[in-house]
Formats: sequence, structure tokens, C-alpha cells
Amino acid sequence: MSTSWTSLTLAAAMAVSIGLPLTAQVPTQDTHLQAARDAARDDFTDLFDTTCGLIRPALIVNTTPAAPTVAADRASWHAEPARVFDNLYYVGQSEYSAWALTTSEGIIVFDAIFDYSVQDEVVGGLTKLGLDPKTVRYVVISHGHGDHVGGAKALQDLGAQIVMSAADWDMLERARVTFPKPTRDIVATDGQTLTLGDTTITLHITPGHTLGTVSSLIPVKDGGTTHMAAYWGGTAFNWVRGPANYVTPERPASFWFDTYAQSAARFSGIAARQNADVLLSNHTRYDRTWPKVQALASRAAGAPHPFVVGTPAVRRFLSVAESCARAGSAVP
Ligand SMILES: [Zn+2]
Repeated sequence: MSTSWTSLTLAAAMAVSIGLPLTAQVPTQDTHLQAARDAARDDFTDLFDTTCGLIRPALIVNTTPAAPTVAADRASWHAEPARVFDNLYYVGQSEYSAWALTTSEGIIVFDAIFDYSVQDEVVGGLTKLGLDPKTVRYVVISHGHGDHVGGAKALQDLGAQIVMSAADWDMLERARVTFPKPTRDIVATDGQTLTLGDTTITLHITPGHTLGTVSSLIPVKDGGTTHMAAYWGGTAFNWVRGPANYVTPERPASFWFDTYAQSAARFSGIAARQNADVLLSNHTRYDRTWPKVQALASRAAGAPHPFVVGTPAVRRFLSVAESCARAGSAVP
């Protein structure tokens, strides 16, 4: 028996003897799940469902799942592009997101969606918005799964440089995939800044969803005001649904939960220090892209911007993600 366990047992015994609840000493799975549910309130229930719902399905809040996407059926995935900030545009599909940041020297795209939709949504979307797809200089890939990197090769062929973490470049290069792979351009490192013309973004390696998930801080402009957007690069707990690709003797499920929780906590601190008050995701249901785009269309002059959720909400979002991950490795 280890010393720490002995003192823990002793502390628990003392807590009982003076009438304190045991949860004050050792957070249980229930404690973390409750903390996540409290943080999720009504606006982050989809994030809660995807993360905590994998730990305990009975807690799932939303009963309507996302509409299935069928590559051959454009109506099942197509969405119109939208200007969201003065320098940020949505060019993704109905569920999987791609964002375009305009600068004085060209465009930075965040995530490249699928190979079947990149031409229609990103290339076609930029054109529809009056922007030139050939001026995309960088494409930052949040992580190397097909729903975010599938279209990267098409954008690389247009002249853009693809940015991804070393771990996810490695993963992609090893993976057997059905889409064309981009070749390795730029390896993102933790805390790296990427400057294009008048705009600088910051990239942070936040392992969890994959070993090399990149979460970004992106300055966005609304009239005379610059806000900071926090872009959480990977959301679901893949190792719960598909352990074969994740869980190994060196990396058991607890490794993934703990790594994810630490990344969420760390990125939350980084975002807070940068006063991040806008939340962006690579899936429209986590940041509620569509209700916000709709609200934006009827926004009155001087009214608050629907994507500016405030710094406490950004922290709450990341705290839902962190608490659900902590629940995953806590004793039930
Ligand atoms: Zn993914």
C-alpha cells in the first residue's frame, strides 16, 4: 500500500469522523459530471453530450442527433458561406466547419473539410464572397482526421501551405485513407505564432482528441473592435468509441482522458490571458454556428455581436470539456 493511498484513506476516515462529505476529499465521477453539466448550462449541451455523454449515455441532453452526411447527396451537407466578422468568413458545410481569415497579404483557412466538399464550400464559397481562393496562403489543420484534412490537398494544389502538428502529420502519413493526402509543408509547434500581413495567430498543441491537436487564438474584427477567438481543435473522446486506434499498453484510456483534461485546462488559461471572448469550433453544433449566423443577419446597428460570447463563456466551454475528461478517468 502506498503512502499516498494510506494518507488518502486516513483523510477519508477523518472526514467521516467529523461529518464532512467524502466528495470534498476525492472528486468522484459524479462530481466531475455535475461540474460539467453546471458549466454547460443551455448553450454548451452539444459539447456535454459528445463528451460526458460518452461516459454516461443516460445524461445526454439533446435527443435529436446531427443529420447524417452523405457525400453523394449535396443536400445533406451543403451550406451557404457567410461573413461572420469583418475579417472572418464561414466556408464550411452544414456540420463540418471551415473558416477563412482575411489579412492584408492573403487568407488563412482553418480546416479543409472533406475532399468531396472542399471545392464547393471553400473554393466556391470564397469566390461567392468575392475573395480569391488563390490568395489562401496557409491552411491550419486542427487535427489529421478526414473531416478536417480531407480537402487539404486541393488547397495545397492551389498554392496554400498546409500547417499541422508533427504528431498529426505522422498520423496522417501512416494512415490508410481514401482521400488525397497533402505533403508535409509546415510543422506547427506549441505557442508558435503565424503572421500573414497585418494579422498574427497563435497555435497551441492541445493533445487529447489526437496526439497533435492544434487549438488556435485568432484575432477577429467587428467595426472598430478587435476580439480574440479561441478555436478548440478537437472535441470527442475517440478512444471510447474506437479504442483500436488509440488504446495501447503505453497509452491506456486513462492516458487519453488525462491528456485531454490537461490540454483543456491549459488552453483555457491561455485563452483567458488573451481575453478570448469568441468561441469557434470545427463542428457547427459545438459553437452553435447557425443560430448565431442567423442572429447576425438581423443584427441591429450597435447591437452585440452574437459570436462574442464573453470570456466567462469561453472558460465554461473548456471547463465542460475538461470536467467530462476528468469524469472519464475518475472512479465511478
Ligand atoms: Zn476528429
